[in-house]
Amino acid sequence: MSVAEKTTETAQTPDDEKLVVVDNLVKYFPVTGGVFSRVKAWVKAVDGVSLFIRPGETVGLVGESGCGKTTFGRVLLRLLPATSGTVTMDGKDVFSLGREELRKLRREMQIIFQDPYASLNPRMTVGDIIGEPLLVHGMTSAKEREQKVKELLEVVGLATYHMRRYPHEFSGGQRQRIGIGRALALRPKLIVCDEPVSALDVSIQSQILNLLDDLQKEFGLTYLFIAHDLSVVRHVSDRVGVMYLGRLVEMASEQELYTRPKHPYTQALLSAVPVADPTVRRERIILKGDVPSPVDPPSGCPFHPRCQYAEDICSQERPEWREIEPLHYVACHLAK
Ligand code: SF4
Repeated sequence: MSVAEKTTETAQTPDDEKLVVVDNLVKYFPVTGGVFSRVKAWVKAVDGVSLFIRPGETVGLVGESGCGKTTFGRVLLRLLPATSGTVTMDGKDVFSLGREELRKLRREMQIIFQDPYASLNPRMTVGDIIGEPLLVHGMTSAKEREQKVKELLEVVGLATYHMRRYPHEFSGGQRQRIGIGRALALRPKLIVCDEPVSALDVSIQSQILNLLDDLQKEFGLTYLFIAHDLSVVRHVSDRVGVMYLGRLVEMASEQELYTRPKHPYTQALLSAVPVADPTVRRERIILKGDVPSPVDPPSGCPFHPRCQYAEDICSQERPEWREIEPLHYVACHLAK
């Protein structure tokens, strides 16, 4: 799908059709120490993130490692408890669901992990790995499960005889296909793709990205695509959010964000992305200093110690999350 098609399609989707709505999500991890393991401080991994995802859309989430994007994906799926905030999926409040309701909702929310080898049980055959969620969710007939697993293997580009093999017998790309097959087994609506191609060779990355794209079209999937590689995120996303120190700093359609970034941090990240056209020269913005500790983030705008445009207000007041163009949001005092 072309960039223009993707952007137009997203803009035409009515706002009330939101599959996922995240409101002010916060996740702090305690730092303990001393003889009594008292809480000495908190790591502010996710610090008030709000966004929505429409059905059939791919929302990309980018940022340097440690910015909180992976934690955000796990809290959204309730794999980690939230400190505060809400997530609704199809109108259901994910954090207030009882055990049985949550089990039902889990069918609709799946995850693909970065390291397909670590996420696959080495003692289980591929058939058992892909069939496990089917068994857990009530498909007790072994024959039915086998048939379903065969279908899923074909869908993700593997052969049916692969079901008798073990994860170590596969390449990285094939193992990621197994992970995708497992995620697809319950026909989910939402899949959180957590750095799904970061551990793969570049030549294999495009195969997996194309597979995810094909599956989205075939099954109407919705993706939250988390990655640190801006080129990969651009390739797959309809809209993109940029995270810094646990907060969203900018969010817009893929085309808008990559051609007209408003936040100084987004501008710096994009300045480091190679351009395929040798006639285009882009000035590289070198960020000063390291990413501050999420235990004690800077006051006001967390980016101010590294921002070349910082003014007095930046260290004093937290910038509002505001819409400066239609569907283009930014958290910066000075962005226009
Ligand atoms: Fe830079 Fe100030 Fe904008 Fe933060 S609010 S990104 S410090 S200009």
